[in-house]
Amino acid sequence: MSMNSQRRIYLDWNATGLLLPEVREALVAALDATVGNASSIHREGQAARATVERARRAVSRAINAPMQAVVLTGGATEGNNQVLRDHVRKTAGAHVVCTGVEHPSVLEVVGALCEEGVRTSIWPVDLRGVLDLGWLDERLAAGVTLVSVMWANNETGNIHPIAEIAQRVHEAGAIVHVDATQALGRIAVDFTGAGIDYMTLSFHKMGGPKGIGAIVVREGFKVAALLQGGHQERGRRPGTENVAAAAGLEAAANQLALKAAHWSDQLVVLRTCFLEALLGQLDGVELRGSPEAQLANTLNLAFQGIDGEDLLLALDLEGVAASSGSACTAGSLEPSHVILAMGYAPAEARRSVRFSFGPATPAEELVEAAGRIARVARRLRQL
Ligand code: PMP
Repeated sequence: MSMNSQRRIYLDWNATGLLLPEVREALVAALDATVGNASSIHREGQAARATVERARRAVSRAINAPMQAVVLTGGATEGNNQVLRDHVRKTAGAHVVCTGVEHPSVLEVVGALCEEGVRTSIWPVDLRGVLDLGWLDERLAAGVTLVSVMWANNETGNIHPIAEIAQRVHEAGAIVHVDATQALGRIAVDFTGAGIDYMTLSFHKMGGPKGIGAIVVREGFKVAALLQGGHQERGRRPGTENVAAAAGLEAAANQLALKAAHWSDQLVVLRTCFLEALLGQLDGVELRGSPEAQLANTLNLAFQGIDGEDLLLALDLEGVAASSGSACTAGSLEPSHVILAMGYAPAEARRSVRFSFGPATPAEELVEAAGRIARVARRLRQL
């Protein structure tokens, strides 16, 4: 068998997941139906409206939030921009904190706000990517108004202690925003239980459709529209609703509500299987991040003596799709900002490769991938 005819193995779920079969079915059915404009008064319009509202209900149930708390958006990038900009617009003397390991859709907005003269601070992490809560307490005492922290990191899989952070933020009279995009489908996400004020979501990392997501807004809080236009989503998100995507979103959220616990367990089994297979065949592999609190589906591995980009390209030829960081910055040849924020030197950061999978990734594929990775890594080390 030639190299190129090898079965492809997709290990880049943190960039985007494979569609769940139920989501695919819902998308196809919605695309085949006559889909009206959800704002139209006729029957086709009413059917579209009903689809959008069913999606809202399914999302609210899957994350334990009231239905009216859910504002549908075009994904988490949009939601992050909207929540941060809205806070600054309505808050005199705003002081925004975000972690140094946030997704670019938070970090770059905070950077832009800083250039526009808003007070901002970056919450540092240690070498394992763990946040220092003492640092937060000090900043909160100095008058921070909003803290933006991701539930789980897209590159290392590190899980942040959201409920504990929310409590500290509230005790200081500030507001907490949580980007839960990478947590969905991997660990339990309970909006109400964690005491969050604003949560942003995207479902495409867990098998939902791309280009649709949500902002979840705590009762008594508001979020104004980012754009101007129509009055969809009660004035908070103008633009004709993507009804087919909403149908897919409903299916994804329903699956999440049904299977989240099972998926978490399954991911742990798969992680062990992959790591054992890889480490049994290859030395000089180091795990980045904090295994005590890490998504089971994410492995950020540094390979001694190998450049991450070289490994990724060689793996792609061997039929394994992985990544060197956020898909939004991957390809830029810059080392990952997350690994740099953890304190690694650029040369060290360049060694990182991220493998991420889903609960339905077959264990045999992970074992097969481990074999290919070990082979490629040994070959690269000999060069
Ligand atoms: N936040 C995190 C943590 C992410 O991993 C991503 C996806 N790369 C986003 C936000 C952006 O989400 P979307 O693709 O829906 O804009």
